[in-house]
Amino acid sequence: MPEQNNADKKPKRTIRVGWIYLFITIALLVMLLPTLLLSPKEITLQEFDRKMLSRHAVEKIDVVNNETAEIYIKKDFANDAFFKDVLKPEGGIIVPGPHYKITIGSPESFERNLDEAQKDFQDNEKVSVSYIKRKNWVGDVLSWTIPVVLMLLMFRYIGRMGSSMGGKEGGPSIFNFGRSTATLFDKENKSTVTFDDVAGLEEAKVEMKEIVDFLKDPNAFTRLGAKIPKGVIIVGPPGTGKTLLVKAVANEAQVPFFSISGSEFVEMFVGVGASRVRDLFRKAKEKTPCIIFIDEIDAVGRSRGKNTLYQGVNDERESTLNQLLTEMDGFGTNSGVMVLAATNRADMLDPALLRPGRFDRHIYLELPSVIERKAIFKVHIKPLLLDETVDVDFLAAQTPGSSGADIANICNEAALIAARRKAEKVSRQDFMNAIDRIIAGVERKSKIISPDEKKIIAYHEAGHAVVSWLLKNVDPLVKVSIVPRGKSLGAAWYLPEEHQLRNTAQFTDMLCAGLGGRVAEEIIFGDITSGALDDLEKVTKQAYTMVAFYGFNKTIGNISFYDSSGENEFGFQKPYSEETSKIIDEEVRLLVGKAYEQTKKLLIENKSKLTTLAERLLKQEVVLKEDLEEILGKRPGNTTENIKEEAVKMGTTL
Ligand code: ATP
Repeated sequence: MPEQNNADKKPKRTIRVGWIYLFITIALLVMLLPTLLLSPKEITLQEFDRKMLSRHAVEKIDVVNNETAEIYIKKDFANDAFFKDVLKPEGGIIVPGPHYKITIGSPESFERNLDEAQKDFQDNEKVSVSYIKRKNWVGDVLSWTIPVVLMLLMFRYIGRMGSSMGGKEGGPSIFNFGRSTATLFDKENKSTVTFDDVAGLEEAKVEMKEIVDFLKDPNAFTRLGAKIPKGVIIVGPPGTGKTLLVKAVANEAQVPFFSISGSEFVEMFVGVGASRVRDLFRKAKEKTPCIIFIDEIDAVGRSRGKNTLYQGVNDERESTLNQLLTEMDGFGTNSGVMVLAATNRADMLDPALLRPGRFDRHIYLELPSVIERKAIFKVHIKPLLLDETVDVDFLAAQTPGSSGADIANICNEAALIAARRKAEKVSRQDFMNAIDRIIAGVERKSKIISPDEKKIIAYHEAGHAVVSWLLKNVDPLVKVSIVPRGKSLGAAWYLPEEHQLRNTAQFTDMLCAGLGGRVAEEIIFGDITSGALDDLEKVTKQAYTMVAFYGFNKTIGNISFYDSSGENEFGFQKPYSEETSKIIDEEVRLLVGKAYEQTKKLLIENKSKLTTLAERLLKQEVVLKEDLEEILGKRPGNTTENIKEEAVKMGTTL
């Protein structure tokens, strides 16, 4: 009956603690009581002179610690009306005294006053004065116990506050500041993700399955003299399944798994991060074979010596990183601690971290291809009730550029939309609405827009649509809408083709498509509006990358100022001279100006098409591919053939 025993133990401990508190309180009361109850009555020097000394009632005086004169009254005065209350309270026994006290300035002045008052007294009538030193035990004890007790209470309070903020291990309280805050997943508390839950990512899965084999049976590899890798770093854009992969490894390898985020090492005090790293590896070594997973490792593994502007922050991160490097070198290759790490920014990491012997293996994940998207959809639609209209191939084609996390979100949102309309099953239209909603935001039909503004929006979007339709290098246009969604008032939707490379013509056509909205406003209304902000931002950034990064500009030449190491991310210094900077600015202006003129020419030539499309937009708010084809004719190039149906990736917005 173990529970019974525990139940018995707990109250006993409380009772014992309770007795200690009671004892301390009684002891304090006993010490304080005489001082509180028997404290003599305070009187003035004049009262003492008139009512006591002149009546020869004073037995003796004790001057204590040169501060207080304690007065004893003769027993003969016990029945005197004036002294009765003090000497013989309520007619009881005579109190031995002292009966009164006077606070004196100094013993010399007190003595002078006393002599003056007794100058007419006989020698035998004079009062004897003695000087005594008395220790104030109560005051002394209290003066050091109270601060100590207060401090202990304060520490306890802060300690509790820390634990209530922290996670499983009590969090960053004042007593475990340097302890690792990693969460441990073991047999009782383990991940349930398997490799079947990770769709696509075939190459990555092969590598990760190998890690599982290393952990399950290291001898199979070491037998031939091979060394087991110490670390694997997974690099990829957000939501591509890095954490998911690691969870699958942890589950399938059946080993303890310490999970921590890189940012948990970084504290405001130098040395805390390093101490947490030490503590984490110490704990891991106790549980070998095991996995340490450091998510967002860039928070701690950023290149050293960079970002000199924030020296304090740097010191802490550097010392943490150094400790991490040492620990990864420290345990033997076959010691059974495997470090897995994930990041979105491998370019920011310190090269020392990435060298063989530390993170020996690098796995690069990318946004899923159409086939991978199909597989991810299959995983996430499994728990949904679908009707026969849902086609996974179609959904995969609709979502270029979406990550695994986006797809998981789309599936969930589609189910929510279906539930909201009280449908029995989730339909294809629910998925379409979910995609629109996730990419562009929630439809805001209630937003009040004046007819004049609506007209401008229609022409702006028609401008984008006409230009992108007529230029063959722009991604295929599939839908134009002037229904406000999220922050945008209207949008043109494209189906991006999955290019690995882009040439000058493609870049230039994209600039023109981006400027289409503003140009249309200028041609039709003779004025421009602030609605082109988002377009201009995209166009400017793209033009700068063309000139300064990709070497597309003849004047700048084949020079790239792109910094893949991220060294200048926080620096104010540009990697080029003031003069080059001016040339870059000028070339960007020329490039955008040229694209603007080209777009203007195109739209003036096709003004009637622009007007027809804008009028159609004003009438029906959303114009799909079929209407576009009817108004604008067949699209140049063969790109339209690739479009499976109305597809979605919002490009330009107003
Ligand atoms: P971040 O870099 O932002 O931390 P991440 O790459 O670690 O992102 P995960 O946390 O692994 O992303 O993925 C988020 C969610 O996306 C997962 O819980 C899962 O539902 C879904 N997901 C991502 N990739 C896949 C995939 N390949 N197969 C199935 N689901 C996926």
